Amino acid sequence: MFMRTSLTLILLFVTATARADEPIADAANDRFAQAANRTFAAFDSPHEQTWQSPFFFMQLADTQYGMFTGNKGFEQEAALVQRTVQHINRLRPRFVIVCGDLTNATPKQDRYQDQVAQYRRDFSKVDADIPLVCVCGNHDLGNRPTPESIASYQSHFGDDYFSFWVGGVCNIVMNSSVLKDPSGAPGVYADQQAWLQQQLVAAKDAQAKHILVFQHHPLFLTQEDEPDEYFNIPLERRTPLLAQLKQAGVRAVFAGHYHRNAYGTAGAMEMITTGPVGRPLGKDPSGLRIVVVNEAGIQHQYWGLDDVPAKVDLSTTSNPK
Ligand SMILES: [Zn+2]
Repeated sequence: MFMRTSLTLILLFVTATARADEPIADAANDRFAQAANRTFAAFDSPHEQTWQSPFFFMQLADTQYGMFTGNKGFEQEAALVQRTVQHINRLRPRFVIVCGDLTNATPKQDRYQDQVAQYRRDFSKVDADIPLVCVCGNHDLGNRPTPESIASYQSHFGDDYFSFWVGGVCNIVMNSSVLKDPSGAPGVYADQQAWLQQQLVAAKDAQAKHILVFQHHPLFLTQEDEPDEYFNIPLERRTPLLAQLKQAGVRAVFAGHYHRNAYGTAGAMEMITTGPVGRPLGKDPSGLRIVVVNEAGIQHQYWGLDDVPAKVDLSTTSNPK
């Protein structure tokens, strides 16, 4: 009797221990594995295609772990992200989107794995019910992306381009590094172009309240026909893409990469370039953008991490920048 009871207790203990040690990071639970099959699993697409009520989301860019120290460490970036996560959990946006250059090292560099691990550690503190959408930048893929560098990114963060619906709004996430330089991955560039056209048609057919595009590189900083430079997309690909997005009625394109804020318009479409969570390269401090989505349109404002408001007013009608 004693033996049998002991055995039962031991078995119960072993079972409980095994359960506690089981990994819970399967695809359904891992917030960094949600971008798959060209969509984002956390959002229930059929349900989210219908307009519900005003909401807000947060757009971040260039956390770029390692930039302050040239990849020697990432304490400053980690501290800035941890402050950002506190704001996220306090204000509770519908979702958060990080528009690329998650790390400073590229996949082939030594410190890449450490930086990715710290990024995942810090953003894992975002409340589980607030989806975190990651977008790839040039540091995440290399300045000349290849199928191999894209596969490396996908193994950590999921798809490099995809779309998802939230409350009647169609959100399209682009791999802008292949728009900047398609020479190393011409097939990816071509596939993304064909996919984009399908997404724009589908959004129109489904009567999207708004169509928003998110990517790392700004299409342009201030003028839609400005000359090519490091921070924008070359005119050769920019001009036809702008025509395509305008034709589809895209309301805004959100980007990062510039480490400063910049604003422009192409017809009725806004081009919004957002400053960094990580290291600033101009007068704008490390911060985040709050975007309020109403039935009639969007309002957005950039906030330094010292100045993020106590509350978000969903009835905002002005659009201070
Ligand atoms: Zn960049």
